[in-house]
Amino acid sequence: MSYESVNPYDGTVLQTFEEMTDGQLESALATAAACFEIWNKKSYGERAVIVARAAVLMRERSEEFARPVTLEMGKLITQARGEVELSADIIDYYAKNAETFLAPEALHPTTGEAEIQNAAFGVLFGVEPWNFPYYQLARFAAPNLMAGNVVIVKHAGCVPQCAIAFEKLWLDAGAPAGAYTNLLISYDQVNRVIDDPRIKGIALTGSVEAGKAVAARAGLNLKKSTMELGGADAFVVLADADMAKTVKWAVFGRHWNGGQVCVSSKRMIIEDAVYDDFLTRYSQGVAALRMGDPFDPATTLAPLSSQKAADDLKTMIEKAVEHGATATPVGPDAPNQGAFVQPTILTDVGADNPARHWEFFGPVSMLFRAADEDDAVRIANDTIYGLAGGVWSGDPERAKRVARRLRTGQVEINGGKFNPMAPFGGYKQSGNGRELGKYGLEEYLEVKAMLT
Ligand code: NAP
Repeated sequence: MSYESVNPYDGTVLQTFEEMTDGQLESALATAAACFEIWNKKSYGERAVIVARAAVLMRERSEEFARPVTLEMGKLITQARGEVELSADIIDYYAKNAETFLAPEALHPTTGEAEIQNAAFGVLFGVEPWNFPYYQLARFAAPNLMAGNVVIVKHAGCVPQCAIAFEKLWLDAGAPAGAYTNLLISYDQVNRVIDDPRIKGIALTGSVEAGKAVAARAGLNLKKSTMELGGADAFVVLADADMAKTVKWAVFGRHWNGGQVCVSSKRMIIEDAVYDDFLTRYSQGVAALRMGDPFDPATTLAPLSSQKAADDLKTMIEKAVEHGATATPVGPDAPNQGAFVQPTILTDVGADNPARHWEFFGPVSMLFRAADEDDAVRIANDTIYGLAGGVWSGDPERAKRVARRLRTGQVEINGGKFNPMAPFGGYKQSGNGRELGKYGLEEYLEVKAMLT
């Protein structure tokens, strides 16, 4: 375990950070618990002033926030700026709308009166991944702070500068010490934080393995947890889809953020009649991507977050091939420098190939030929994951019919757009619970029935 900023484009170690001592951790927990007693008593309006100010500061200091993302995990600088903007939008959205979402609900019993009220849990603990170093924090922190909870976060080891910048944001916005706390701690300390009676709920975003470890620990303590885990999303292309638009979106959807997105289209499932056309056009689109310096505006495919991530992904491709898949490298050779992986299309991934159920976190696309609509749905649902998915068709009603059959927490039709009010989370091993929207807000609120 270490907290170290390493530039994945040139391997430079930028900065290393000490883990907190147990004494520092105890002090952080005590401050957060004391802060909850103050923060929870504030009105929505009082909280909203501070939360909205955080959004303003993020926008004002966009470049200051964006650069460490590119330096620490290699995101293209244009996409890093976009993530800063998106995070500010999410923070703003909950400053403006949380009170409406959480308004008391009047019931209408036949005798007497009844009302449902929401009560904040207390101190929440988030464990977060590096792939969206601010967006992930924003979608956990902003709704929960507005709901009256306070949050402490263990961010991923490779993005400590982003983690520290986001904590400072809240102090600069006027939040009391302890409302948002960043912890640089070991896995052992993570377990002790989960065990600590001052912690009332645990939210993790990350891999299935991390989810199992953290959810098990939360379960031992009978504590509520929500898990936002991996995905191998299906991108279903029906024969009547607008092929030019579909392919353009597929290339982007699979390769933005270096292909390291939980909801990126990792499995393309194409109806037989248009499979060959799709494969030709998709290969051309991927071949046009340009790997290089993530600060260079001409670069369109970023390095992976670390050399280890790149090496692990190459091993996964080799193993998929050992089990019978065909791996086709696409486009110009990857640069010699940096944590790059050659974009690769995997075909012939048979029913008995374990790779069918893997999440390739990088520029690797699995393509499947579907006999018809039913077969496409069958292949799409044949996975341990169920995070999101996409359906492409010239007939919106047909697309919706297929979308309803996908066992996923979210589905986009003809390239639907991200929306801060839409709940985010998955079926099956993609996790449990939701973040964002009314459903996400309610995860860490007690429901209290007031009867008169
Ligand atoms: P990861 O290795 O599971 O790490 C996620 C976080 O968990 C990091 O802070 C990590 O700390 C911590 N962690 C890992 N194992 C732990 C353990 N045993 N005990 C305590 N903490 C532990 O995942 P990642 O590589 O950062 O992120 C990629 C994964 O996240 C992919 O599967 C992706 O699909 C998923 N993801 C899901 C969503 C969603 O909303 N569903 C969103 C984004 C990403 P260290 O960094 O210090 O190891």
